Amino acid sequence: MELVSNIEVHKIKKSGISEVNFNQLEFGKYTSDHMLVADFANGEWQTPKILPYANLSLSPAALALHYGQTVFEGMKAFRMANGSVNIFRIHKHHQRLTKSLHRMCMAEIPEDIFIEGLTQLIALDQDWVPSAPGTSLYIRPFMIATESRFGVKISDEYRFIIFTGPVPSIYTEPIKVKVETEFSRAAKGGTGFAKCGGNYGAAYFPTKLAKEQGYDQVLWTDSIEHKFIEESGMMNVMFVINETLVTPALSDSILDGITRDSLLTIAKDLGIKTEERPVSVFELQSAFENKTISEAFGAGTAAVVAPIKTIGINGTDFHLPAYSADSKSSIIKNKLEQIRAGNTEDIHGWNFIVP
Ligand SMILES: *Cc1c(COP(=O)(O)O)cnc(C)c1O
Repeated sequence: MELVSNIEVHKIKKSGISEVNFNQLEFGKYTSDHMLVADFANGEWQTPKILPYANLSLSPAALALHYGQTVFEGMKAFRMANGSVNIFRIHKHHQRLTKSLHRMCMAEIPEDIFIEGLTQLIALDQDWVPSAPGTSLYIRPFMIATESRFGVKISDEYRFIIFTGPVPSIYTEPIKVKVETEFSRAAKGGTGFAKCGGNYGAAYFPTKLAKEQGYDQVLWTDSIEHKFIEESGMMNVMFVINETLVTPALSDSILDGITRDSLLTIAKDLGIKTEERPVSVFELQSAFENKTISEAFGAGTAAVVAPIKTIGINGTDFHLPAYSADSKSSIIKNKLEQIRAGNTEDIHGWNFIVP
């Protein structure tokens, strides 16, 4: 990897870290001192800069604000048991970002800018990486179309930014989800596999309706027949059926979650049987009736595992047994946390230690 040694660094005059209560973190509340900013113009990436975190200045005609050319990533850095900082699965996040950008016709960010820029940013703000169990530094890389032009067109100019912020351990109480059979998150041929802003905007309304009906989230189904399960809210979804970890196979309407991939890999390492295949609503209902389903959970970077207690299928609520430390989801999640902390061997090369 060719190193981008010429990143310009402008340090903040006074750190804001003393204003953060690290014993009472809230997800999304605090941002660290610096951000990485790189502009794409005249067909090439300009010298990336590390700047004090601040508001942006954009033309009101910036294309991202109108036609939705925006893409993001969500990743985390962890304080390891020995004090080092670990950016988890940095290469896989860059690969997914590249796929999302390609789908949205946006300039691809070279791996050296991504990795070297992120490494330098985290090294500079390393005091912001919390150390209490389960806490982490959330990392938000994103890109927007910045060309100022009010006709519909593919932008010729982009801004790539990475900012970070400390977040608490997110333990979610088991949630109630509703199998969604009217609205869709993503359609075949659409942008479901890309981490683009529009997928989120379009998901709010069905989720709001589900909340009004007493659920926490929707369980998305395929957009053609609404017969096959796809994702849970903005997380991938996994089930334990007949002691097997089952998850819908990836498709263009399912996001290739890095947590999903990590949990599947660890399950295999632990000798748990896994299946990636279509999971129908009918199969789920039968599994409840036959009592062969024992767990259901969302999988994503924010919470790692979000256990599900109830699934509403066509107006009937089906309940899952209580979760414990012996649940497969707990065992796999625990193993993942041990790998990230450096307490157990990282046999898949997932940890990226900040020098
Ligand atoms: C980000 C995201 C996920 C989870 O991906 P992770 O890499 O595990 O955080 C799942 N589904 C959707 C729609 C997402 O946007």
